[in-house]
Amino acid sequence: MEAKYCWVDLSDQTHFSIYNLPFGIFSVGNNTKRVGIAIGDKIVDLAVVSAMDLFKDLEISDAVFNSNYLNDFIHLGKDITNKVRIQVQDWLCDVDSPLKDHDHILVDQNQATLHLPLKIGDYTDFYSSLEHATNVGMMFRGKDKALLPNWKHLPVGYHGRSSSIVESGVPIHRPSGQVVPKDGNGPVFKASSRLDFELEMALVVGKENRLGQPVSINQAEQHIFGMVLFNDWSARDIQKWEYVPLGPFLGKSFASSISPWVVTMEALEPFRTNGPAQDPIVLSYLDFQGAANFDINLEVSISTEDQPESMICKSNFKYMYWSMAQQLTHHTSNGCNISIGDLMASGTISGPDPTSYGSMLELTWGGSKPITLSSGHQRTFIEDYDIVTMRGWSEKDGKKVGFGEVQTKILPTLHE
Ligand code: CA
Repeated sequence: MEAKYCWVDLSDQTHFSIYNLPFGIFSVGNNTKRVGIAIGDKIVDLAVVSAMDLFKDLEISDAVFNSNYLNDFIHLGKDITNKVRIQVQDWLCDVDSPLKDHDHILVDQNQATLHLPLKIGDYTDFYSSLEHATNVGMMFRGKDKALLPNWKHLPVGYHGRSSSIVESGVPIHRPSGQVVPKDGNGPVFKASSRLDFELEMALVVGKENRLGQPVSINQAEQHIFGMVLFNDWSARDIQKWEYVPLGPFLGKSFASSISPWVVTMEALEPFRTNGPAQDPIVLSYLDFQGAANFDINLEVSISTEDQPESMICKSNFKYMYWSMAQQLTHHTSNGCNISIGDLMASGTISGPDPTSYGSMLELTWGGSKPITLSSGHQRTFIEDYDIVTMRGWSEKDGKKVGFGEVQTKILPTLHE
């Protein structure tokens, strides 16, 4: 692919290159929310573009772009949404672009507020990293029972809570709940002392299926609009006591945080790669032919109000044992219907190396090996007023496609 010229000033480091063009929801001042595309440190205001009749060939109503969420836009289908993205890319590469005819089409990102981009009806969390499942299993159940017998035959998951998914920048209060103290005297109700992040990514469902109608493995990717970064906040002490026998509940449902820009699968296509070999061979309904994974660099840092960021984890989405296509196919294999805007999160993305573990639980091995931040402070889990930042990007042949970041500050519990 030849390098494209873009007339908007772009830094080499920007996640929002001319090859990316992710969609999000933004507002400026008291103006209403609308759909935008990120380019460098600007946003293309698609509501203004539409009001200028520049999308008239595509017959899209202005209301689709004057919306609080991307759902109506995604509902147009990939044929149309891809045309919008490619048309904007062409305009941004054209020195005689009609986008130059209007003063308010390009908005500075630092003047805008970014909002939750999706109306999320349902959220499912998978558990698809072999390294993560093995690490957590060893800590919760011991080495012999680390990986349960079903794990390599199906993408294990559970139904999460969509009401508490928030966008980057929204602070989270430390949850309180039932925990059993180390001395075994309990349970007691108290603020979690083992608050953790989980480095994940989530796919955004772009096409629904009818109730009763499974989505085949060959059709699965047609149902994926794009992806976001996903921090699945977890209270390990609450989780450990409550999770038997039905799985995660209040140790997870207090919050999850997502990045504001939805990167399309079309932008990620150049970064497609093979996943880990699957052994034993999967059942035929999960058998995907071809490269099913994506090479996306991921990192996590911790900072505090008066200290700079310390990088604590570097991982990659390509480590996932189960692919997104397999997750979506398995999810619908019983006839369960999925809807536009639903999220399916990957599960914590840990790699083979201890510096690639995607949670404090693993990085500090259950709190037994504290991490020293660049400030000299130590951490076993996340403390009040800590700021956790996750970033993700793909890079190949000098072309970068990134997700920006999801950043969250932890505030004290409101319970005590
Ligand atoms: Ca999770």
